[in-house]
Amino acid sequence: MSRTIIVSNRLPTKALRTDDGLAFQPSEGGLATGLGSIYRADGNVWVGWPGLFVEDEAEATFVTEQLAADSMAPVFLTEDEIRDYYEGFSNGTLWPTFHYFAQLAVYEEDMWKAYVAVNEKFCRAVLEQAGPDDTIWVHDYQLLLLPEMLRAARPQATIGFFLHIPFPSYELIRVLPWRTELLQGMLGADLIGFHTFGYMRHFLSAVSQLLGLPNQHGQIETPTRSVLVDAFPMGIDHQRYADAAASEAADAHVREYREALKEVRVILSIDRLDYTKGIAQRLRAFELLLLRYPEWRGQVSLLMVVVPSRDQVAQYADLKVEIDELVGRINAQYRTIAWNPVHYFYRSFPLEELAAFYRLAEVALVTPMRDGMNLVAKEYVASKADQRGVLILSERAGAARELSDALIINPTDTGQLAEAMHEALVMPEEDQIARMTNMQALVRQYDVFAWTKLFMDRLAHAKSQQQTLA
Ligand code: UDP
Repeated sequence: MSRTIIVSNRLPTKALRTDDGLAFQPSEGGLATGLGSIYRADGNVWVGWPGLFVEDEAEATFVTEQLAADSMAPVFLTEDEIRDYYEGFSNGTLWPTFHYFAQLAVYEEDMWKAYVAVNEKFCRAVLEQAGPDDTIWVHDYQLLLLPEMLRAARPQATIGFFLHIPFPSYELIRVLPWRTELLQGMLGADLIGFHTFGYMRHFLSAVSQLLGLPNQHGQIETPTRSVLVDAFPMGIDHQRYADAAASEAADAHVREYREALKEVRVILSIDRLDYTKGIAQRLRAFELLLLRYPEWRGQVSLLMVVVPSRDQVAQYADLKVEIDELVGRINAQYRTIAWNPVHYFYRSFPLEELAAFYRLAEVALVTPMRDGMNLVAKEYVASKADQRGVLILSERAGAARELSDALIINPTDTGQLAEAMHEALVMPEEDQIARMTNMQALVRQYDVFAWTKLFMDRLAHAKSQQQTLA
Protein backbone atom coordinates (compact mmCIF):
# COMPACT_ATOMS: atom_id res chain seq x y z
CA MET A 1 0.00 0.00 0.00
CA SER A 2 1.33 3.42 -0.84
CA ARG A 3 1.65 5.84 2.11
CA THR A 4 1.58 9.59 2.40
CA ILE A 5 4.35 11.48 4.18
CA ILE A 6 3.92 15.13 5.14
CA VAL A 7 7.10 17.16 5.65
CA SER A 8 7.36 20.64 7.17
CA ASN A 9 9.91 22.54 9.20
CA ARG A 10 7.82 22.21 12.36
CA LEU A 11 5.71 19.29 13.47
CA PRO A 12 2.07 19.89 14.46
CA THR A 13 3.13 18.96 17.99
CA LYS A 14 5.66 20.84 20.07
CA ALA A 15 7.85 19.21 22.73
CA LEU A 16 8.56 21.43 25.76
CA ARG A 17 10.87 21.13 28.74
CA THR A 18 8.88 21.78 31.93
CA ASP A 19 9.62 21.42 35.65
CA ASP A 20 7.85 18.07 35.51
CA GLY A 21 9.88 16.79 32.56
CA LEU A 22 9.00 16.82 28.88
CA ALA A 23 5.53 17.89 27.80
CA PHE A 24 3.84 17.76 24.41
CA GLN A 25 1.56 20.49 23.16
CA PRO A 26 -0.54 20.38 20.02
CA SER A 27 0.04 23.27 17.68
CA GLU A 28 -3.17 25.03 16.71
CA GLY A 29 -1.99 26.01 13.24
CA GLY A 30 -4.31 25.71 10.28
CA LEU A 31 -1.97 23.31 8.53
CA ALA A 32 -2.11 20.83 11.41
CA THR A 33 -5.91 20.87 11.27
CA GLY A 34 -6.12 20.57 7.51
CA LEU A 35 -3.63 17.74 7.24
CA GLY A 36 -4.75 15.99 10.42
CA SER A 37 -6.95 13.56 8.57
CA ILE A 38 -4.07 12.63 6.27
CA TYR A 39 -1.09 12.10 8.53
CA ARG A 40 -3.12 10.28 11.17
CA ALA A 41 -4.52 7.82 8.63
CA ASP A 42 -3.11 4.29 8.58
CA GLY A 43 0.62 4.11 8.06
CA ASN A 44 1.04 7.79 7.19
CA VAL A 45 3.44 10.07 9.01
CA TRP A 46 4.42 13.75 9.46
CA VAL A 47 8.16 14.51 9.51
CA GLY A 48 9.46 17.74 11.09
CA TRP A 49 11.24 19.54 13.94
CA PRO A 50 9.56 19.15 17.35
CA GLY A 51 10.76 22.58 18.54
CA LEU A 52 13.12 21.23 21.22
CA PHE A 53 16.91 20.88 21.47
CA VAL A 54 17.39 17.37 22.82
CA GLU A 55 20.17 16.91 25.36
CA ASP A 56 21.03 13.24 24.90
CA GLU A 57 20.18 9.99 23.14
CA ALA A 58 17.76 8.92 25.85
CA GLU A 59 15.76 12.11 25.47
CA ALA A 60 15.77 11.77 21.67
CA THR A 61 14.48 8.21 21.95
CA PHE A 62 11.75 9.26 24.37
CA VAL A 63 10.58 12.10 22.12
CA THR A 64 10.69 9.84 19.05
CA GLU A 65 8.57 7.19 20.77
CA GLN A 66 6.01 9.68 22.05
CA LEU A 67 5.62 11.29 18.66
CA ALA A 68 5.51 7.96 16.81
CA ALA A 69 2.38 7.10 18.80
CA ASP A 70 0.67 10.03 17.08
CA SER A 71 2.05 9.39 13.55
CA MET A 72 4.96 11.85 13.72
CA ALA A 73 8.70 11.43 13.19
CA PRO A 74 11.04 14.10 14.57
CA VAL A 75 14.04 15.68 12.86
CA PHE A 76 16.28 16.91 15.67
CA LEU A 77 18.05 20.18 14.96
CA THR A 78 20.88 21.75 16.92
CA GLU A 79 20.98 25.34 18.18
CA ASP A 80 23.55 26.17 15.48
CA GLU A 81 21.32 24.69 12.80
CA ILE A 82 18.31 26.69 13.99
CA ARG A 83 20.45 29.85 14.02
CA ASP A 84 21.87 29.42 10.52
CA TYR A 85 19.27 27.41 8.60
CA TYR A 86 16.08 28.71 10.24
CA GLU A 87 16.71 32.20 11.63
CA GLY A 88 19.56 32.77 9.17
CA PHE A 89 18.84 31.58 5.66
CA SER A 90 15.08 30.89 5.94
CA ASN A 91 14.04 33.99 7.88
CA GLY A 92 16.98 36.30 7.12
CA THR A 93 17.40 35.61 3.38
CA LEU A 94 14.35 33.89 1.87
CA TRP A 95 11.59 35.52 3.95
CA PRO A 96 12.52 39.16 3.14
CA THR A 97 13.34 38.35 -0.50
CA PHE A 98 10.08 36.52 -1.16
CA HIS A 99 8.10 39.35 0.54
CA TYR A 100 9.78 42.10 -1.55
CA PHE A 101 11.95 43.37 1.33
CA ALA A 102 15.21 42.50 -0.46
CA GLN A 103 17.02 45.37 1.27
CA LEU A 104 16.67 43.42 4.54
CA ALA A 105 18.05 40.16 3.13
CA VAL A 106 21.46 38.84 4.19
CA TYR A 107 23.65 36.81 1.83
CA GLU A 108 25.90 34.56 3.93
CA GLU A 109 27.59 31.51 2.47
CA ASP A 110 27.66 29.81 5.90
CA MET A 111 23.91 30.18 6.28
CA TRP A 112 23.38 28.76 2.81
CA LYS A 113 25.57 25.76 3.70
CA ALA A 114 23.52 25.20 6.85
CA TYR A 115 20.34 25.40 4.74
CA VAL A 116 21.67 22.73 2.37
CA ALA A 117 22.82 20.53 5.27
CA VAL A 118 19.49 20.74 7.11
CA ASN A 119 17.54 20.00 3.92
CA GLU A 120 19.79 16.91 3.59
CA LYS A 121 19.01 15.99 7.17
CA PHE A 122 15.29 16.22 6.43
CA CYS A 123 15.88 14.12 3.32
CA ARG A 124 17.47 11.33 5.36
CA ALA A 125 14.63 11.46 7.88
CA VAL A 126 12.02 11.19 5.12
CA LEU A 127 13.87 8.35 3.40
CA GLU A 128 13.80 6.38 6.64
CA GLN A 129 10.02 6.52 6.36
CA ALA A 130 9.37 6.46 2.63
CA GLY A 131 9.11 3.47 0.34
CA PRO A 132 9.82 3.76 -3.42
CA ASP A 133 6.20 4.46 -4.43
CA ASP A 134 5.04 6.64 -1.57
CA THR A 135 3.53 10.10 -1.83
CA ILE A 136 5.54 12.86 -0.15
CA TRP A 137 4.10 16.34 0.40
CA VAL A 138 6.77 18.93 1.29
CA HIS A 139 5.79 22.30 2.77
CA ASP A 140 7.22 25.77 2.56
CA TYR A 141 10.29 27.94 2.11
CA GLN A 142 12.48 26.22 4.71
CA LEU A 143 12.60 23.11 2.50
CA LEU A 144 12.96 24.37 -1.07
CA LEU A 145 15.82 21.95 -1.83
CA LEU A 146 14.13 18.88 -0.43
CA PRO A 147 12.00 17.83 -3.45
CA GLU A 148 15.06 17.41 -5.67
CA MET A 149 17.05 15.60 -2.95
CA LEU A 150 14.15 13.17 -2.50
CA ARG A 151 13.80 12.73 -6.26
CA ALA A 152 17.45 11.67 -6.57
CA ALA A 153 16.93 8.96 -3.97
CA ARG A 154 13.40 7.90 -4.93
CA PRO A 155 12.92 8.48 -8.66
CA GLN A 156 9.46 6.85 -8.65
CA ALA A 157 8.01 8.67 -5.66
CA THR A 158 5.08 11.03 -6.02
CA ILE A 159 6.31 14.36 -4.65
CA GLY A 160 4.23 17.48 -4.05
CA PHE A 161 5.47 20.86 -2.88
CA PHE A 162 3.43 23.79 -1.53
CA LEU A 163 4.78 27.28 -0.88
CA HIS A 164 2.90 29.11 1.89
CA ILE A 165 4.48 32.52 1.25
CA PRO A 166 4.43 34.67 -1.92
CA PHE A 167 6.63 33.74 -4.86
CA PRO A 168 8.01 37.09 -5.99
CA SER A 169 8.83 38.52 -9.38
CA TYR A 170 11.87 37.15 -11.22
CA GLU A 171 13.60 40.49 -10.50
CA LEU A 172 13.70 39.60 -6.80
CA ILE A 173 14.66 35.96 -7.31
CA ARG A 174 17.55 36.84 -9.62
CA VAL A 175 19.23 38.77 -6.79
CA LEU A 176 19.78 35.56 -4.78
CA PRO A 177 23.26 34.07 -5.27
CA TRP A 178 21.69 30.59 -4.94
CA ARG A 179 18.73 31.19 -7.27
CA THR A 180 19.47 28.29 -9.63
CA GLU A 181 19.87 25.72 -6.88
CA LEU A 182 16.66 26.89 -5.18
CA LEU A 183 14.56 26.63 -8.35
CA GLN A 184 16.06 23.26 -9.24
CA GLY A 185 15.35 22.06 -5.73
CA MET A 186 11.65 22.85 -6.14
CA LEU A 187 11.52 21.19 -9.57
CA GLY A 188 12.15 17.79 -7.97
CA ALA A 189 8.41 17.78 -7.24
CA ASP A 190 5.70 16.48 -9.60
CA LEU A 191 3.26 19.20 -8.53
CA ILE A 192 4.21 22.64 -7.20
CA GLY A 193 1.41 24.62 -5.56
CA PHE A 194 1.07 28.33 -4.74
CA HIS A 195 -1.72 30.37 -3.10
CA THR A 196 -2.41 32.49 -6.20
CA PHE A 197 -2.00 32.50 -9.98
CA GLY A 198 0.20 35.58 -9.59
CA TYR A 199 2.79 33.66 -7.55
CA MET A 200 2.55 30.77 -9.99
CA ARG A 201 3.22 33.07 -12.96
CA HIS A 202 6.26 34.55 -11.21
CA PHE A 203 7.62 31.05 -10.64
CA LEU A 204 7.09 29.98 -14.26
CA SER A 205 8.79 33.14 -15.44
CA ALA A 206 11.78 32.65 -13.09
CA VAL A 207 12.17 29.03 -14.24
CA SER A 208 12.04 30.04 -17.87
CA GLN A 209 14.47 32.97 -17.52
CA LEU A 210 16.97 31.41 -15.13
CA LEU A 211 16.87 27.74 -16.18
CA GLY A 212 15.70 28.16 -19.78
CA LEU A 213 12.89 25.63 -19.27
CA PRO A 214 9.72 26.34 -21.24
CA ASN A 215 6.18 25.84 -19.95
CA GLN A 216 2.75 25.39 -21.39
CA HIS A 217 -0.56 25.49 -19.50
CA GLY A 218 1.31 25.43 -16.19
CA GLN A 219 3.40 22.42 -17.19
CA ILE A 220 7.21 22.72 -17.16
CA GLU A 221 9.22 20.31 -19.30
CA THR A 222 12.51 19.41 -17.60
CA PRO A 223 14.98 17.18 -19.47
CA THR A 224 13.71 14.15 -17.53
CA ARG A 225 10.12 14.82 -16.41
CA SER A 226 7.23 17.19 -16.67
CA VAL A 227 6.32 19.22 -13.59
CA LEU A 228 2.87 20.67 -13.05
CA VAL A 229 2.43 24.07 -11.40
CA ASP A 230 -0.93 25.34 -10.12
CA ALA A 231 -2.70 27.67 -7.70
CA PHE A 232 -4.43 26.32 -4.57
CA PRO A 233 -5.59 29.16 -2.29
CA MET A 234 -5.47 27.75 1.24
CA GLY A 235 -8.61 27.89 3.36
CA ILE A 236 -9.33 27.73 7.08
CA ASP A 237 -11.35 25.31 9.19
CA HIS A 238 -14.49 27.41 8.74
CA GLN A 239 -16.60 25.33 11.10
CA ARG A 240 -14.07 25.62 13.90
CA TYR A 241 -14.10 29.43 13.76
CA ALA A 242 -17.87 29.65 13.34
CA ASP A 243 -18.32 27.34 16.35
CA ALA A 244 -15.79 29.22 18.47
CA ALA A 245 -17.54 32.51 17.71
CA ALA A 246 -20.89 31.01 18.69
CA SER A 247 -19.56 29.40 21.89
CA GLU A 248 -20.63 30.29 25.43
CA ALA A 249 -17.05 31.28 26.23
CA ALA A 250 -16.92 33.77 23.35
CA ASP A 251 -20.34 35.09 24.39
CA ALA A 252 -19.08 35.80 27.89
CA HIS A 253 -15.98 37.57 26.55
CA VAL A 254 -18.05 39.68 24.15
CA ARG A 255 -20.33 40.80 26.99
CA GLU A 256 -17.37 41.64 29.22
CA TYR A 257 -15.53 43.64 26.53
CA ARG A 258 -18.71 45.42 25.41
CA GLU A 259 -19.38 46.53 28.94
CA ALA A 260 -15.88 47.93 29.27
CA LEU A 261 -15.96 49.65 25.86
CA LYS A 262 -19.50 51.03 26.24
CA GLU A 263 -20.68 52.45 22.90
CA VAL A 264 -17.21 52.73 21.40
CA ARG A 265 -16.93 50.99 18.04
CA VAL A 266 -14.04 48.65 17.34
CA ILE A 267 -11.60 48.43 14.46
CA LEU A 268 -9.59 45.21 14.87
CA SER A 269 -6.10 44.29 13.73
CA ILE A 270 -4.36 40.97 14.50
CA ASP A 271 -0.88 39.99 13.26
CA ARG A 272 2.37 38.41 14.20
CA LEU A 273 5.06 41.05 14.71
CA ASP A 274 6.51 41.26 11.21
CA TYR A 275 7.68 44.02 8.87
CA THR A 276 5.59 42.45 6.09
CA LYS A 277 2.33 43.11 7.97
CA GLY A 278 2.20 46.92 7.59
CA ILE A 279 1.50 47.50 11.30
CA ALA A 280 3.16 50.92 11.56
CA GLN A 281 1.46 52.15 8.36
CA ARG A 282 -1.88 51.02 9.78
CA LEU A 283 -1.30 53.05 12.96
CA ARG A 284 -0.45 56.13 10.89
CA ALA A 285 -3.65 55.65 8.91
CA PHE A 286 -5.69 55.42 12.11
CA GLU A 287 -4.03 58.60 13.34
CA LEU A 288 -4.98 60.27 10.05
CA LEU A 289 -8.59 59.08 10.44
CA LEU A 290 -8.78 60.84 13.82
CA LEU A 291 -7.22 63.97 12.32
CA ARG A 292 -9.46 64.12 9.23
CA TYR A 293 -12.68 63.03 10.93
CA PRO A 294 -12.73 64.51 14.43
CA GLU A 295 -16.26 63.14 14.85
CA TRP A 296 -14.77 59.66 15.35
CA ARG A 297 -12.73 60.78 18.37
CA GLY A 298 -14.22 59.21 21.45
CA GLN A 299 -16.36 56.98 19.19
CA VAL A 300 -13.92 54.48 17.67
CA SER A 301 -10.98 52.52 19.05
CA LEU A 302 -8.34 50.46 17.29
CA LEU A 303 -7.97 47.10 19.04
CA MET A 304 -4.56 45.93 17.96
CA VAL A 305 -3.15 42.49 18.76
CA VAL A 306 0.51 41.97 17.89
CA VAL A 307 1.75 38.44 18.54
CA PRO A 308 5.44 38.31 19.55
CA SER A 309 7.53 36.67 16.82
CA ARG A 310 11.22 36.33 15.89
CA ASP A 311 12.06 39.04 18.43
CA GLN A 312 15.68 37.85 18.61
CA VAL A 313 16.20 39.30 15.12
CA ALA A 314 17.29 42.98 15.06
CA GLN A 315 14.78 44.10 12.42
CA TYR A 316 11.92 42.70 14.45
CA ALA A 317 13.12 44.34 17.66
CA ASP A 318 13.36 47.71 15.82
CA LEU A 319 9.82 47.30 14.52
CA LYS A 320 8.58 46.65 18.06
CA VAL A 321 10.12 49.95 19.21
CA GLU A 322 8.53 51.81 16.29
CA ILE A 323 5.07 50.37 17.07
CA ASP A 324 5.41 51.13 20.80
CA GLU A 325 6.30 54.73 20.00
CA LEU A 326 3.47 55.22 17.52
CA VAL A 327 0.86 53.80 19.91
CA GLY A 328 2.23 56.00 22.69
CA ARG A 329 2.10 59.09 20.48
CA ILE A 330 -1.46 58.52 19.26
CA ASN A 331 -2.81 57.70 22.71
CA ALA A 332 -1.01 60.63 24.33
CA GLN A 333 -2.35 63.00 21.68
CA TYR A 334 -6.00 61.93 21.61
CA ARG A 335 -6.97 59.94 24.66
CA THR A 336 -9.51 61.12 27.21
CA ILE A 337 -10.28 59.74 30.64
CA ALA A 338 -13.21 57.84 29.12
CA TRP A 339 -11.69 56.77 25.79
CA ASN A 340 -8.52 55.04 24.64
CA PRO A 341 -7.78 55.45 20.90
CA VAL A 342 -5.55 52.36 20.60
CA HIS A 343 -5.91 49.23 22.75
CA TYR A 344 -2.59 47.57 22.08
CA PHE A 345 -1.83 43.97 23.15
CA TYR A 346 1.64 42.51 22.62
CA ARG A 347 0.81 38.87 23.31
CA SER A 348 -1.22 36.00 21.90
CA PHE A 349 -4.77 34.98 22.79
CA PRO A 350 -6.60 31.65 22.94
CA LEU A 351 -9.15 30.84 20.25
CA GLU A 352 -12.28 31.86 22.25
CA GLU A 353 -10.88 35.31 22.96
CA LEU A 354 -9.84 35.80 19.34
CA ALA A 355 -13.33 34.73 18.32
CA ALA A 356 -14.77 37.32 20.71
CA PHE A 357 -12.55 40.02 19.15
CA TYR A 358 -13.72 39.00 15.68
CA ARG A 359 -17.35 39.19 16.77
CA LEU A 360 -16.92 42.50 18.53
CA ALA A 361 -15.18 44.27 15.66
CA GLU A 362 -17.28 46.41 13.33
CA VAL A 363 -14.24 46.64 11.08
CA ALA A 364 -11.23 44.35 10.54
CA LEU A 365 -8.09 45.94 9.21
CA VAL A 366 -5.91 43.42 7.37
CA THR A 367 -3.35 45.54 5.59
CA PRO A 368 -0.05 43.70 5.02
CA MET A 369 2.57 45.05 2.63
CA ARG A 370 2.89 41.43 1.40
CA ASP A 371 1.27 38.27 2.69
CA GLY A 372 1.17 34.82 1.08
CA MET A 373 -2.50 34.35 2.01
CA ASN A 374 -3.49 35.86 5.41
CA LEU A 375 -5.76 33.64 7.43
CA VAL A 376 -6.92 36.34 9.86
CA ALA A 377 -9.02 37.85 7.03
CA LYS A 378 -10.80 34.52 6.51
CA GLU A 379 -11.23 33.88 10.25
CA TYR A 380 -12.93 37.28 10.66
CA VAL A 381 -15.36 36.41 7.88
CA ALA A 382 -16.07 32.95 9.35
CA SER A 383 -16.82 34.45 12.78
CA LYS A 384 -19.51 36.90 11.63
CA ALA A 385 -22.70 34.88 12.15
CA ASP A 386 -24.90 37.98 11.71
CA GLN A 387 -23.01 39.07 8.56
CA ARG A 388 -22.42 42.53 9.99
CA GLY A 389 -18.91 43.90 9.81
CA VAL A 390 -16.56 45.21 7.15
CA LEU A 391 -13.24 43.73 6.08
CA ILE A 392 -10.59 46.15 4.83
CA LEU A 393 -8.02 44.08 2.95
CA SER A 394 -4.68 44.80 1.33
CA GLU A 395 -4.46 44.17 -2.39
CA ARG A 396 -1.10 42.49 -1.68
CA ALA A 397 -2.47 39.73 0.56
CA GLY A 398 -3.13 36.46 -1.27
CA ALA A 399 -6.62 36.47 0.29
CA ALA A 400 -7.56 39.56 -1.78
CA ARG A 401 -7.80 37.38 -4.91
CA GLU A 402 -10.72 35.51 -3.35
CA LEU A 403 -12.25 38.06 -0.95
CA SER A 404 -13.02 40.67 -3.58
CA ASP A 405 -16.07 41.84 -1.59
CA ALA A 406 -13.77 43.35 1.02
CA LEU A 407 -12.77 47.02 0.77
CA ILE A 408 -9.53 46.46 -1.14
CA ILE A 409 -6.81 49.03 -0.45
CA ASN A 410 -3.17 49.76 -1.20
CA PRO A 411 -1.54 49.58 2.26
CA THR A 412 1.12 52.20 1.47
CA ASP A 413 -1.59 54.74 0.64
CA THR A 414 -2.27 56.06 4.14
CA GLY A 415 -4.94 58.47 2.86
CA GLN A 416 -6.83 55.72 1.07
CA LEU A 417 -6.64 53.56 4.18
CA ALA A 418 -8.04 56.33 6.41
CA GLU A 419 -10.87 56.89 3.91
CA ALA A 420 -11.60 53.14 3.79
CA MET A 421 -11.93 53.11 7.60
CA HIS A 422 -14.39 55.99 7.41
CA GLU A 423 -16.32 54.29 4.61
CA ALA A 424 -16.47 51.05 6.61
CA LEU A 425 -17.75 52.87 9.71
CA VAL A 426 -20.60 54.50 7.78
CA MET A 427 -21.43 51.57 5.48
CA PRO A 428 -25.18 50.76 5.48
CA GLU A 429 -26.05 47.42 7.04
CA GLU A 430 -27.55 45.91 3.91
CA ASP A 431 -24.26 46.59 2.12
CA GLN A 432 -22.29 44.94 4.89
CA ILE A 433 -24.56 41.91 4.82
CA ALA A 434 -24.37 41.55 1.04
CA ARG A 435 -20.56 41.66 1.03
CA MET A 436 -20.14 39.41 4.07
CA THR A 437 -22.61 36.83 2.73
CA ASN A 438 -20.61 36.46 -0.48
CA MET A 439 -17.31 36.15 1.36
CA GLN A 440 -18.71 33.66 3.84
CA ALA A 441 -20.00 31.36 1.10
CA LEU A 442 -16.49 31.27 -0.34
CA VAL A 443 -14.65 30.76 2.96
CA ARG A 444 -17.11 28.01 3.92
CA GLN A 445 -16.82 26.13 0.63
CA TYR A 446 -13.07 26.37 0.08
CA ASP A 447 -12.04 25.38 3.58
CA VAL A 448 -8.76 23.77 4.58
CA PHE A 449 -10.16 20.27 4.05
CA ALA A 450 -11.20 21.11 0.49
CA TRP A 451 -7.74 22.60 -0.06
CA THR A 452 -6.00 19.43 1.12
CA LYS A 453 -8.18 17.20 -1.02
CA LEU A 454 -7.75 19.38 -4.10
CA PHE A 455 -3.96 19.32 -3.79
CA MET A 456 -3.75 15.58 -3.15
CA ASP A 457 -6.13 14.75 -6.01
CA ARG A 458 -4.22 17.02 -8.38
CA LEU A 459 -0.94 15.45 -7.32
CA ALA A 460 -2.22 11.94 -8.01
CA HIS A 461 -3.57 13.13 -11.36
CA ALA A 462 -0.32 14.90 -12.31
CA LYS A 463 1.61 11.74 -11.56
CA SER A 464 -0.68 9.48 -13.59
CA GLN A 465 -0.56 11.86 -16.57
CA GLN A 466 3.20 12.02 -16.30
CA GLN A 467 3.51 8.26 -16.35
CA THR A 468 1.40 7.97 -19.48
CA LEU A 469 3.65 10.59 -21.11
CA ALA A 470 6.84 8.76 -20.22
N1 UDP B 1 -3.39 33.74 16.00
C1 UDP B 1 -3.34 33.03 17.18
N2 UDP B 1 -3.29 33.70 18.38
C2 UDP B 1 -3.30 35.06 18.44
C3 UDP B 1 -3.34 35.78 17.24
C4 UDP B 1 -3.38 35.08 16.03
O1 UDP B 1 -3.33 31.79 17.15
O2 UDP B 1 -3.25 35.61 19.53
C5 UDP B 1 -3.47 33.00 14.73
C6 UDP B 1 -4.58 33.48 13.83
O3 UDP B 1 -5.81 32.98 14.29
C7 UDP B 1 -4.14 32.94 12.47
C8 UDP B 1 -2.61 32.90 12.59
O4 UDP B 1 -2.31 33.17 13.95
O5 UDP B 1 -4.62 31.64 12.26
C9 UDP B 1 -1.92 33.92 11.67
O6 UDP B 1 -1.96 33.45 10.35
P1 UDP B 1 -1.80 34.43 9.11
O7 UDP B 1 -1.92 33.63 7.86
O8 UDP B 1 -2.78 35.57 9.22
O9 UDP B 1 -0.34 35.07 9.25
P2 UDP B 1 1.12 34.43 9.51
O10 UDP B 1 1.38 34.66 10.97
O11 UDP B 1 1.02 32.97 9.14
O12 UDP B 1 2.06 35.21 8.66
